[in-house]
Amino acid sequence: MSDFDVLIIGGGAAGLMCALTAGQRGKRVVVIEHADRCGKKILMSGGGRCNFTNTGVTPAQYLSANPHFCKSALARYTPNDFIEMVERHGIAYHEKELGQLFCDESSKQIVRMLLDECEWAGVRIETGCSVESVGQDDAGFNVRTARGMLKAPSLVVACGGLSIPRMGATGFGYQLARQFGHDVLPTRAGLVPLTLSGTHLERLEDLSGLSLPIEARCGKQSFSNAMLITHRGLSGPAILQISSYWREGDALTINLLPGDDIPPLLSQWQTDRRDAQLQTLLGEVLPKRFAQRLTEHWLPNRPMRQFNSPELDHIARTLAAWPIIASGTEGYRTAEVTLGGVDTDGLSSSTMMSKHVPGLYFIGEVVDVTGWLGGYNFQWAWASGRAAGMAA
Ligand SMILES: Cc1cc2nc3c(=O)[nH]c(=O)nc-3n(C[C@H](O)[C@H](O)[C@H](O)COP(=O)(O)OP(=O)(O)OC[C@H]3O[C@@H](n4cnc5c(N)ncnc54)[C@H](O)[C@@H]3O)c2cc1C
Repeated sequence: MSDFDVLIIGGGAAGLMCALTAGQRGKRVVVIEHADRCGKKILMSGGGRCNFTNTGVTPAQYLSANPHFCKSALARYTPNDFIEMVERHGIAYHEKELGQLFCDESSKQIVRMLLDECEWAGVRIETGCSVESVGQDDAGFNVRTARGMLKAPSLVVACGGLSIPRMGATGFGYQLARQFGHDVLPTRAGLVPLTLSGTHLERLEDLSGLSLPIEARCGKQSFSNAMLITHRGLSGPAILQISSYWREGDALTINLLPGDDIPPLLSQWQTDRRDAQLQTLLGEVLPKRFAQRLTEHWLPNRPMRQFNSPELDHIARTLAAWPIIASGTEGYRTAEVTLGGVDTDGLSSSTMMSKHVPGLYFIGEVVDVTGWLGGYNFQWAWASGRAAGMAA
């Protein structure tokens, strides 16, 4: 039987940040990780270069049943705080676009940095160690693991969400939350490719690999970035972003010419390019094969002079709001994140501690806080991990 001050289940982004923070405060910390190594998702993130934060983080880029919950932790551990650690470890990085910071070399450097910080802070890390049960008595939490019983007055649940099960994702964090009387809001895949079916898929699937800049819109939310056609449906950053806001049955529209004022463009074509076919002209502003497909199935293809005003209106509306009927998402198999999770109503926003069970904390993706694509999810993992590490 071993005694610790803080026991953390899950050695991912949030768990390691919590561990090094509590360790630096002189706490005796142990991390239980069931995979054979820590930080597997960090390793695979950002195409192997880890988009570790975003310089433009604000609470507005997070989805949660309580949009205010993330404010306190994000304000107290900012992107600059993480950048300071990255720089202290001599890790070179660059901004790719939209404030997204990536390692120049490899995400391995971020995992190395976190593990070094944990080691310097005296944190014990048990990898390849599964948790069999969690109980509680007057002295604190008792965690039965494959390597024996561990006890600590503080237990931090940092098990992540359900996305990418082959990387070690489990629903264990949600199970623990329920065991201790917490509500778990329904979960679903986020930042995930959308699937198409039937004629919609048949019309597009052979264009698989084609990418174009668009604006995807669902309800009041919209994202401008690239869309990629895949053999199953649609992906690319703009689609991944909007997928977090899309629910089955929701209307989704795509502005195919987000940089253009479409009605004046069509009027100009009708004046200056009267004999040119619509397909030819669209092929000058869109990928040619895509323009061809549009005029085969969604738009009439005639010389510009032959369109009357209602027809031009229809063309403009279709280009500005091309309707997509998604049949679903690719699910947790390829999703970057899990939406929903441990209800924030039961947690303190400043410490991440349970309001019902003193000493019990939930951090990172297991909590109902999910960021946009672009480094926001790691920043939540760092900030919530830090908040709990300062309190536990
Ligand atoms: C392919 C991919 C790319 C991504 N790229 C980015 C990116 O570039 N930028 C960004 O901000 N976000 C990115 N994300 C999202 C980001 O990885 C997560 O938001 C973040 O890792 C969440 O941190 P976490 O610590 O809560 O969970 P995780 O990092 O998932 O860590 C949870 C840990 O708990 C362990 N665990 C689970 N169950 C148990 C158990 N029963 N016992 C013991 N251990 C357990 C898991 O093995 C895992 O190590 C990406 C996600 C994916 C899938």
